[in-house]
Amino acid sequence: MSASRLNLAELDIPEIESALEERGCERFHARQLYRWIYKRAVVDFETMTDLSKDLRARLAADFDVVTPKVVSDLRSIDGTRKFVLELADERRIEAVFIPDTPAMTFCISTQVGCAMGCGFCLTGKMGLVRNLTAGEIAGEVRVLAAATGMLDHRFNIVLMGMGEPLHNYDQTMKALRMLHDEHGLAVSPRRVTLSTVGIVPGLQRLAHEPLMPNLAISLHATTDEQRSELVPPNRKYPLADILETCRRFPLKKRSRITFEYVLLAGVNDSPEDARRLARLLSGIKAKVNLIPLNPAPGIPYERPSDERVDRFAQILADRHLTVSVRKSRGQDIRAACGQLIVEGGVKRSAAQQMASLLQS
Ligand code: SF4
Repeated sequence: MSASRLNLAELDIPEIESALEERGCERFHARQLYRWIYKRAVVDFETMTDLSKDLRARLAADFDVVTPKVVSDLRSIDGTRKFVLELADERRIEAVFIPDTPAMTFCISTQVGCAMGCGFCLTGKMGLVRNLTAGEIAGEVRVLAAATGMLDHRFNIVLMGMGEPLHNYDQTMKALRMLHDEHGLAVSPRRVTLSTVGIVPGLQRLAHEPLMPNLAISLHATTDEQRSELVPPNRKYPLADILETCRRFPLKKRSRITFEYVLLAGVNDSPEDARRLARLLSGIKAKVNLIPLNPAPGIPYERPSDERVDRFAQILADRHLTVSVRKSRGQDIRAACGQLIVEGGVKRSAAQQMASLLQS
């Protein structure tokens, strides 16, 4: 792509309208372009048959629609599909399609690598390679929806792949606005869940978003000492600050904040941890998603026994918390929670292991 060419995949409809106008074209073609790109996954202007031949030639001369390329599509026996996508600079990311949860769900990445450094996550060890752009984030959804035959169906999106979405706030929010557009995929924010370690200024900004996604907090520990070990950003944004921000978070009627808690054998899975968790969440419209660890080489923690998981869940339920235990999906293709990584974020995809937290 030459420097003067514009990548339409990075633009929302008002931006495409302006770009068209600047080039002497009618603004209304922006909506037609959006339909082709998002509803039909067509990115070749020549195929956009409701545009005049002349316009198609002008578009092809001035614009591109840069789209992540599928370099592998692994299918699990349970229907889960893990996609490795290559970006224009040959960096690679992963995105997962999880069918029947009960809705169809795409778990997508917001960064190549991650700066958060969570102790049970190999992506954290990679560090941040770079942020994804809005067009790349929305592009993941376009590509997955086309590949899974979901362009005309409702689906959920969880921002729980590689990266911390609030650490790439502006591009993530722009991507959600682009995905929400009625001329494109029209994804309602109610169908989107943003998972964060709890970057407090980001949460405060999120509280004022007109298109507010559901919120999930990756908690994973009940004391600052332990959480700072497992989730290092806790040193800057301790539990009390995060939970206070959650208490004030403007939730819609019947909405709740999901608290994700990865259970690590002998580390954070004791009855006392469960009781402390229930106390911490008091006064918050909360539900808890327990995630027994999917063990993987390089992650120095074990999965607790089923009895231990059940006991933990029961203690929370006895204290009137809604609890779910995440069923592991796609373990045979390493697409389960905690098992996504593209090594180095660059061309070769190898040992597929990391912990980015997937929601079932
Ligand atoms: S668990 Fe999520 S936030 Fe933590 S290092 Fe991994 S990708 Fe980043």
